[in-house]
Amino acid sequence: MKKKIIITGGIGYIGTELCKLYSGVSWHHQIIVIDNRFISERVNQLRNWNMEFVQGDILDKDLIKKYCSDADIVHHLAGVTSVPRTKSEASSDQDKKIKEVGEIGTQNILDSVSNKCKIIFPSTHVVYEGIDEVRTDIKENEQTKPVLSYSTSKAINEDQLKRSGKNYIILRLGSVYGYSSDTMRIDIMPNLFSKIASQNGTLKLFAGGRQIKSLVPLVDVARCFKFMEEKSEINSEIFNLTKETLTVKEVAEICKKHNPKIELKETNDEVPNLGFSLSNKKLLNTGFEFLYNLDENIKEMIHKWSKQDLIKDLEFVKDGENLFVDDRGVISNHELTEPINLIGLIDSKKGTIRANHYHPQQEQKCLFTKGQIIEIFQDVINPNAPKITQVVNEGQLSIIKPNVAHTMVFTKDTTFLNLVRGERNHENYGITHTIRHVFVDEKEKNLLLESYKFECRSCGNVNLKRVVSLGYQPLANNLLNKKNEKCDLYPLEVNYCDKCHNCQLSVAVDPKKMFSNYLYTSSTSKVFRNHFIEAAKKYAKELKLNKKKSYIIDIGSNDGVALKPFLNLGFKKVLGIEPAKNLAKMANKNKIKTFNGFLEKKNLKKIKKNADLILASNVFAHSDKLKEMAECMLSLLSKKGTIVIEVQYLMNTLKDLTFDNIYHEHYNYWSLTSLINFFKQFEANIFRSEKIDTHGGSIRVFITKNKKIKIDSSVKKMIKEEESFGIKNFNTYKKFGEKVYEIRANVLNNLKKIKGRNKNIIGYGAPAKATTALNFFGITDEINYIVEDNKLKHNKFIPGVKIQIKNKNQIKDKNNVLLVLAWNFYEDIKKNNLHLSDDIINIKDLETNN
Ligand SMILES: [Zn+2]
Repeated sequence: MKKKIIITGGIGYIGTELCKLYSGVSWHHQIIVIDNRFISERVNQLRNWNMEFVQGDILDKDLIKKYCSDADIVHHLAGVTSVPRTKSEASSDQDKKIKEVGEIGTQNILDSVSNKCKIIFPSTHVVYEGIDEVRTDIKENEQTKPVLSYSTSKAINEDQLKRSGKNYIILRLGSVYGYSSDTMRIDIMPNLFSKIASQNGTLKLFAGGRQIKSLVPLVDVARCFKFMEEKSEINSEIFNLTKETLTVKEVAEICKKHNPKIELKETNDEVPNLGFSLSNKKLLNTGFEFLYNLDENIKEMIHKWSKQDLIKDLEFVKDGENLFVDDRGVISNHELTEPINLIGLIDSKKGTIRANHYHPQQEQKCLFTKGQIIEIFQDVINPNAPKITQVVNEGQLSIIKPNVAHTMVFTKDTTFLNLVRGERNHENYGITHTIRHVFVDEKEKNLLLESYKFECRSCGNVNLKRVVSLGYQPLANNLLNKKNEKCDLYPLEVNYCDKCHNCQLSVAVDPKKMFSNYLYTSSTSKVFRNHFIEAAKKYAKELKLNKKKSYIIDIGSNDGVALKPFLNLGFKKVLGIEPAKNLAKMANKNKIKTFNGFLEKKNLKKIKKNADLILASNVFAHSDKLKEMAECMLSLLSKKGTIVIEVQYLMNTLKDLTFDNIYHEHYNYWSLTSLINFFKQFEANIFRSEKIDTHGGSIRVFITKNKKIKIDSSVKKMIKEEESFGIKNFNTYKKFGEKVYEIRANVLNNLKKIKGRNKNIIGYGAPAKATTALNFFGITDEINYIVEDNKLKHNKFIPGVKIQIKNKNQIKDKNNVLLVLAWNFYEDIKKNNLHLSDDIINIKDLETNN
C-alpha cells in the first residue's frame, strides 16, 4: 500500500538519517519533508530521492493542515534541539521558544491529522531527570519527573499525544550518538568526547566520571522510527529507545582506546545526580534489533575528525572489505572517503607507463579490476620525502592523496577504474586537475621491470606488506672511482610476508652487478678473523670432525677467512666457493682452495660432494635464488653432515633499529621463525640455534637432513622469544618503520648542532651500512670526507652522496669531529685513533633526540 509519510524536521540530526533510510522506498510512497531550514545540498539530495521538500514552520497551522490532513504517517522530529542541559544555562526566552515549538507545534499536528494517521514522536530519557536516587532499568510506566524546560515540554507532549485520541508511538530516546555526514549534534557526550579525542585533547570526568548514561546509536534510532511505521499492529504505545548504559568514564576509556594520546582527567566534585538508566525490554519484545554499537561509532567519529596521515603509514593500497563469497563468486567492497562524480575506465598494455603527474586538489582513487602495476610516488610538498614504490594487484584500490606525484608502470595488461571528484579533461594539465611531474623515465621503468620482486622468496605469497622505505639508493658496496661516475639507483624497501614471516626487499638487483668485484675483504677485520678462529675450534670439537677425513665447504668464502683456521688446525679437505673474481684469486694465491662462481645448479658438477660441514656465513641473505642455493647446499651435504648458517638477525634489526643493515646485497632478513618455515619445504631441520655478535647481532643455526636428530631446546626457546616480541605481528614491523623515520629527523637535527662547533666532520669507516644511512639521511656536504682502514676503498667515493674515502694519514690536525660510521666497531676505533681526534662520536648516538 502506498503511504503518505510526513517527516517534520527532516533536515536535522535524526531526520537526515531517517531520510536516508526512506530513500530506498521513496519511489513507492509519497514522502514529504518539512523543515524550517533550507540547506541546498540536502534539499537537492531529497529531490533526487523523489521526496518532496517543503520549507515551513510547524507553527504555521495552515501549512501543517495542508500537508498532514491526509497523511498516513507523521514522523514528528521538529523541535528546538539546542537546549539547556543545566539550570544555569537556562534562559526564559529560550524556555518560551522550547515550549512554543514543542507544545503548539505538536498540537497543530494533532489537530490536523485524521484518526487513521500514526504519529511517531521522539521523547527523551531526560523526563526522569528529577529522580533523586540512582535508578536503573526504569520502565515505560514509571511516573515522569521532568525539571528543565526541555524535559518538561517533552513530558507535556507525551500527555498531549496520549490524550488526543489519535494513534501515536512515543520513543523515549537515550543520548543519541554517532557520526552523521550532514548535521551533527556535538553537545551529546559520546560525540563531544570523540571530537575532543580527535584533537588529542583532555577529557574531563566530573565526579570521577561515575555518572551513568543511557545511550543509543543514531542509525538505530532512525531504524526504529521506520520500524514503528511499518508495524501496523503496534499502536498508541510508549517505548524506551536506549541500547546500552555506561558510565561517563567507560565512554572516555573507549575514546582512549582509539586514541591513546588523549588524557583523562578526573575531578572529585559532587554532582547532584549519578544518573539513571532506562529498560529497553519492552522494545526488544517487539522484535526490534540494534545493529550498531558505541565502540565502532566512537572509532568512526575519531577517525573521521582526526588529522589524516599522508605518506607515512603507507596505507595507500586497500583490499576490498566485507567479502561475500558463495558458489557464484566473490563480492568485495571499497568505501570511498569522499564523493566522486567521474569514473574513467582505463586499459593499459604490459610494459607501458602512465601518470608522471600530481593533482593539486583532488584525491585520486584507482580500482584495479585486472592486471598489476608498480606504482611510484613521492610527496611533492615535502622536499625530503623519499620516492616510494608499491605493487597494486587486481581487486585492490590505490588511493593517491593530493600533491603526491605518482607514476604507474604496468607489469601486466591492466584495467582500472579512475574515480575522481572534479572535472576531468585529459588535455587539462592546468592547476585545477593535473600537473605534469616527470620523475620516472624509461630507463628507470625498465630497471624496475627487471628487478622488482612480486612474490615472497620463501613461500610465494604475493600479498606483501611494507615495513620501511629508505628511498631510492645506489648499490651500497659499489663505490665510485670518480665523483661524477654514473650509478643506478634502486628502491631500498623492505616488505613483510604475513604467511611465512619472511622479510625481503622490494627489488632483487642482478647479483652480477654487486658481487663480481667485491671490495669487502673479511680478513681486514681482526674481529672477524677471531670470530672464525673460534668458530673453527668450536665446530671441530662439537661436530666431532676428523682432521684427515672431514670435508668442509664455505659458501661465499670471501678471501678464505673462515677456512684458514681449519687449515691451521690441520684439516686437509677444505673448499671455498666465491663469486668475486678478485677474492677467489686472492684466496687461491694464499693456498685456500677456492672455486670461483655462484653456488647454482649449473656449477654443481664442478664441485665435489659429500661435505661433512658446509658453512654459509653472511651469504644466506645475499641470494635472490635462495631455494636453488638451499637445494645445492643440501645436495653437497653428506647424509649426517651439518650446514651452519650465520645470518644477521632480524630481531636485532627491529629491536636495535639498525635499519642501516638494510642494503641491496641483503635480499633477505631472517628470524629463526622464518628460517624454520623456509627449510621445512626441503625436509631439512634446524636442530640448534645460537645468538652471535657479528654485524650488530646475528644468529647461527645448525641444519641437517638427518631426520633422527634430536632438536635442541635452544630452538624452542628462541622461537618463544620471537613470538612474544611480535615477530608474527605486522604491527611490530610497521612500528619499526615509523621509528626509522624518527631517527632520520634526530640525526639531521643533531648533526646541525655538531656543525655549529666549526670543526671538520670526518667520517670513520665506509661499510655498506654507511652508504645506506648517509643516503637515507641525505647527508652530503655535512661530512668533509671519510677515512677507512681498507686500502682497497681509498680514493673512491660513496655512491649517491658522493663523499670521498681517504687514507687516515690525510688527517692533518686534531681540529675535527670523527664521526664513526662503522658503529659496530666504535669502541675499537675510538681506542686506536685517539691521536687523530679529541672528539670521536658514534653515529648511533645521534639517533636519539637529546
Ligand atoms: Zn612468505
